[in-house]
Amino acid sequence: MSKISQTGSSTPGFGYFFYHYVWMVIDVFYPPVCSGCEKPGIRWCDECNSKVQIIKAPFCQVCGTPLQRGGSCDECREHPPQFDRLRSLAVFGGPLRTALHGLKYRRDQGIAEILAAPLINIVDREAWEFDIIVPVPLSKPHLRERGYNQAEMIARPLALGLKKPCVVDAVIRSKETSSQVALSPAERYANLQDAFSANPAKLKGRNVLLLDDVATTGATLNSCSKALKDAGAKTVLCLTVAKTLRKGNVASVG
Ligand SMILES: [Zn+2]
Ligand SMILES: [Zn+2]
Repeated sequence: MSKISQTGSSTPGFGYFFYHYVWMVIDVFYPPVCSGCEKPGIRWCDECNSKVQIIKAPFCQVCGTPLQRGGSCDECREHPPQFDRLRSLAVFGGPLRTALHGLKYRRDQGIAEILAAPLINIVDREAWEFDIIVPVPLSKPHLRERGYNQAEMIARPLALGLKKPCVVDAVIRSKETSSQVALSPAERYANLQDAFSANPAKLKGRNVLLLDDVATTGATLNSCSKALKDAGAKTVLCLTVAKTLRKGNVASVG
């Protein structure tokens, strides 16, 4: 099991450390509990960290699903996705699932910058080159209800760490698509059609890192990527903290 920490070759700038210190000051005034197990005094404890199943190679070079050997998976060969790449830090489960649910539904925002740090390592490892970071948006009613976008909470410190602009108005979401899991692939496609619309002025000719908290079926990222490409984005590289694995895709997690 790999430690969730930032050890890559990118040198985060002043803004990244300032953001981090702001959260450390908040911790002094509002003592945190672990986002995975509610242990007091720390936002993310070693025990929860040790239970995170990091996704390691070999995996599908397109969608990042663990495989027995490299290359691309059947799904990507038969139905090539709209995005160019998808990588995820870890399997969606255990304390990481609890932490991501807390970020999404219980305003546990302090965990976001902790989860952003290891994503810098993935960008380094993959040698990704891109111009802007775009968090997958929420629809306006959803954003009003929740008060913040959990993907943006992760994208902001990531952008500071990678010294790239975080652009939140490049794409909007006109309908919410949260109940994707129970749908068939055809229903998912229909459900997601025209869910996103992107702004060509922000995207034409740009290489985009599209960030979300979890990739469940990949359909949301796929649909959002299509909108970005339709608006002129050259490449779309998707990055998520967690990924739901289909049965049998457990070859290389550890
Ligand atoms: Zn814990
Ligand atoms: Zn694949």
